[in-house]
Amino acid sequence: MNTENLEHINCPICEQDETQLLFDKDSLSVVTCKRCRLRYVNPRVSQQTLEEGYVETYYPPDKVERIHTDSMEWLQMTERLTELEKHCEDKGKLLDVGCGIGTFLHLARERGWQPNGVDPSKSGITFAQEIHQLDVKCGEVFDANFPDAHFDAITLYHVLEHIPDLNPFLSELRRILKPQTGTLVIEVPNGESLQSHLQKADWPYVHPRDHLYYFSARSLPQLLQKHGFRDITLGKPRRVSPTANLRFRLRRAATSALVRLHLGTVIRVYAS
Ligand SMILES: [Zn+2]
Repeated sequence: MNTENLEHINCPICEQDETQLLFDKDSLSVVTCKRCRLRYVNPRVSQQTLEEGYVETYYPPDKVERIHTDSMEWLQMTERLTELEKHCEDKGKLLDVGCGIGTFLHLARERGWQPNGVDPSKSGITFAQEIHQLDVKCGEVFDANFPDAHFDAITLYHVLEHIPDLNPFLSELRRILKPQTGTLVIEVPNGESLQSHLQKADWPYVHPRDHLYYFSARSLPQLLQKHGFRDITLGKPRRVSPTANLRFRLRRAATSALVRLHLGTVIRVYAS
């Protein structure tokens, strides 16, 4: 690790460099900004090293097929879409950033949306194009050069924690989302969930090489406000399962209670 290029960053929300160490993992440090309380990796593995790692390993061909045939994948995507439609009445142009193999966009098209997607994974994008015949592009959102005020909805599920330069990225999303009527949906691991408080560095989402930020129900809305997003509300992501047995129903009730207290495993934010 010490032979890799490390880069030091300021807090992406308040642009300051006043932090306190939370814990170390994999030879990297997770810190808290003393001003805004954002938790992030600092210093971190340089952007170029990260991109190479991500693109090569995220969707190996055997994993692509396994995800496609996994009933949990389809249930999860259906839940996301159903919740989106509660917040966004007009089924217009939808952009899924980090669309992976395209399951979510495929389901959205069946319900009347006009789907678009980007993902840095070549194998994910190839699958989405060939199996689902989707209009998706391999690369970053900047590469696509979408017009101003173009999308009715933009979704990012477990993407934002991977983005090295948050501020230009969110400015780009603001530019291409329709002002007032457009809906932005962001879901990330909850860096201040009950599990993360209990497990600290051992929490499975702590992955400092490519999970660069550990957002909370407070820091994520702050970041979005900085980029002009308004009407920011916290969603209530629901646990899904192929079988609704008693054990699942109890776990789902526990999850709902944690989500209400902002202590659930993930945070989902809606903004316009
Ligand atoms: Zn800060």
